Amino acid sequence: MNNQPIQKNDIVTINVTALGLEGEGIGRVDTFAVFVPNALVGDIVEVKIIKVKSHFGYGKIINIVTPSKARINPACESFPQCGGCQMQHMDYRQQLLWKQQAVTDSLVRIGKLQDVVVHPTIGMADPTHYRNKAQYPIRQNTVTGEIEIGFFAKQSHRIVQSDSCMIGHKDNAILIQIVKEWMKKNHIRAYDETSGKGLMRHLYTRTTHAKQEWMVVLVTNGDKQLPFESLIQVIQTQLPSIKSIYQNINTRRDNTILGSQNRLLWGESYLFDTIGDCTFRISPHSFFQVNSTQTAVLYQTAIDYADLKGHETVFDLYCGIGTISLFLANKAKKVIGIEVVPQAIEDANENAKINNITNTKFLTGTAEDITPKLQKQGIKPDIIVIDPPRKGCEQALLDILVVLNPPKIVYVSCNPATLARDLNFLTQNGYTVKAVQPVDMFPWTRHVETVVLIERK
Ligand code: SAH
Repeated sequence: MNNQPIQKNDIVTINVTALGLEGEGIGRVDTFAVFVPNALVGDIVEVKIIKVKSHFGYGKIINIVTPSKARINPACESFPQCGGCQMQHMDYRQQLLWKQQAVTDSLVRIGKLQDVVVHPTIGMADPTHYRNKAQYPIRQNTVTGEIEIGFFAKQSHRIVQSDSCMIGHKDNAILIQIVKEWMKKNHIRAYDETSGKGLMRHLYTRTTHAKQEWMVVLVTNGDKQLPFESLIQVIQTQLPSIKSIYQNINTRRDNTILGSQNRLLWGESYLFDTIGDCTFRISPHSFFQVNSTQTAVLYQTAIDYADLKGHETVFDLYCGIGTISLFLANKAKKVIGIEVVPQAIEDANENAKINNITNTKFLTGTAEDITPKLQKQGIKPDIIVIDPPRKGCEQALLDILVVLNPPKIVYVSCNPATLARDLNFLTQNGYTVKAVQPVDMFPWTRHVETVVLIERK
């Protein structure tokens, strides 16, 4: 006996009343929740039920009966096939409101925080072509044999090709064309994931914000010398602001994009980009925020929340290439950055030198290992900045934060769910949330970055 109100393949009409964290619409049949990708709050949609679980189901839109007021025509022809963006069908202002609401919901539901005011999301004046990095897989179409360079489709490794990605740099289209033609002319095969054969795996590009200079990385499955000279010549002619061309060798049989070995084929080893008053050295492996315009906004918010007077010792945990540390250094007595990737720490030390900053110290290791050691040495931070990856902080780190008991913590988060979980712990252990500021680093996607000011009670 099955009590579920819907079965697989049913066609039902649904009022969409909420959006999930993945950007999917949520409606109900009786009390039974149905998740509908690409549906928006306010849509009335006819959906085909494609999967039924014990307490919820999944549906696919077959007809939009009444569109939501937030619904727009996606500017990108590859939406929704392309796995890059999730929210191209939603008006940009509505995206900002939704992201603010998503942060609030997480703080209430997961963080159990009542009465916290989440400020309106800071968006972009022009939310297009903002990405400074692109990673295009290169594959051979299994049916036609054509070379394909594009993005992976949602939950698949099928390539979606597009000449006009609205979040990436426009000139990526030139590079895609150049690499395709060069491969064709020289009979170079694209990588095949099933057999592990074929040479060209990825076309990876980086552009600087300040001077619009380019780095191109050709990721190859093996060390074979290819006729790179002709490729370099065409790139130089068609993209005069090219500064650096690398081959990266990746023979791993997994989804990692870059292998560990880089070979400089032409030009400079590094790009240099400027955010605010700081200059940063960027190599193929460096972590660097992908939206430079909004990175300045994000860091400025963190600086405002830190409100340094000049006498403070600051810990910058998960410091990457030292970006936030260097922004804070001019206003603090000392900044200690901690980061697990050794190459990033090398970059951080170099970046301190480039910017003539002498009051920073960068340590390699995990935040949860190194911070207790600093505590045992008797170092007492006045402010701790944390910027963890999506999974948030390890419990061991949260424990030591409470022991160190700094007057102020500034938490920069790329995942509202883990942020809320960590804030729940901190607020139960002597801290209070003073301010929450979402920043839109990734327009047209479901992602939201948040800066939180946390103070000792
Ligand atoms: N604050 C930097 C980087 C943030 S991204 C910036 O704004 O550019 C998160 C960083 O945390 C990455 O550089 C990642 O390598 C690092 N990381 C991941 N787990 C870590 C851990 N357990 N301890 C320290 N660093 C870690």
